[in-house]
Amino acid sequence: MMNTRFLKVVRWVSQISHSNSNIVKYSLVGLIIICIILPLRCPTGRGYHYVTFSHLEEDIYVCDIGGKESSTSLQTCPLIPKNLERYSSVKTSVNETALKTLSQKLSIKPGGKWKPTHCNPQHHVALIVPYRDRKLQLDVFLKHIHPFLQKQLLNYGIYVVEQSSIHKFNRAKLFNIGFVEALKDSNYCCFIFHDVDLLPESPRHIYTCSKQPRHMCSALDTFRYVLPYPGLFGGVIAITRHQFERVNGFSNVFFGWGGEDDDFCNRILNMGYSITRWEPSLSRYTMLFHSKAVPDPNRIHFLRSGYQRYSTDGLNSLKYKVVERQHKSLYTWLLVDVKPE
Ligand code: UDP
Ligand code: MN
Repeated sequence: MMNTRFLKVVRWVSQISHSNSNIVKYSLVGLIIICIILPLRCPTGRGYHYVTFSHLEEDIYVCDIGGKESSTSLQTCPLIPKNLERYSSVKTSVNETALKTLSQKLSIKPGGKWKPTHCNPQHHVALIVPYRDRKLQLDVFLKHIHPFLQKQLLNYGIYVVEQSSIHKFNRAKLFNIGFVEALKDSNYCCFIFHDVDLLPESPRHIYTCSKQPRHMCSALDTFRYVLPYPGLFGGVIAITRHQFERVNGFSNVFFGWGGEDDDFCNRILNMGYSITRWEPSLSRYTMLFHSKAVPDPNRIHFLRSGYQRYSTDGLNSLKYKVVERQHKSLYTWLLVDVKPE
């Protein structure tokens, strides 16, 4: 059935192409070119379901912020501020002077904390950034992210967790450490685990939690804004404090590149949660250039056997040493020693 139809189409196309009409020939060539170019040009959103901008309010997890975090004389800030632009330009370089004066210009408190003063924010978010030896990227990130977060009227703090140089980089463990250390500062209800080299392009992508854990950077410029596979859960994610504790945080065993984000995705699904994404136009990110790391060969074994360790490897087995903790003008800096067990 399928084959005879296909043959008919082929015959029809060849008849037309043998016809003498130039208009028909050119139209056919044009049509073929359009068919090839279209899927290459606008492939965003393929392969996954997402929440559209008009449904964000229903999707957002509203924190129970009370006590000293809010003032009774102020109005509540909107969940999604009006007039947020659809797109902001992303600068991939930074002017040193602009960076130095940023905390004063934006009234950022020491340790990279801020909240609006004219209304009581409904979001209380800690951004945790794993870090080693990417000074330029960190500067660009900070310059971009502070004004971005302030326009969204969030109560936020930025934590840069730097791993000392002895062992291979362990991104997941740094996230666990950032979670524990940020909670010593304030009662954050939402956590955003954020690679330093990713810059959000849509001011409407509110940096707060969804009812289910959210993969935020589903449309990356380096992947032509296409999600490579639906289980991808790396780059930037938002998860509530309660959800993170229930899944026992990230695994601590992934030293070197790869595996830890897939393992974390498995932990989330294993606990009965699902993954949320917001529509592609909201989830666009620019990635700052860096050379690709060599994947760690051990990641495959640890990923396969991950399910055996969900309840024993994570927040409840986390060991580390804080070498230094400083309230820098744009972020809280934690220098930590971690070692394979
Ligand atoms: N990272 C870092 N220094 C390193 C390796 C990684 O600061 O030497 C942090 C940084 O936040 C980076 C994230 O870990 O964005 C993920 O690493 P990478 O960018 O190499 O991963 P990929 O983009 O290949 O997924
Ligand atoms: Mn990267």
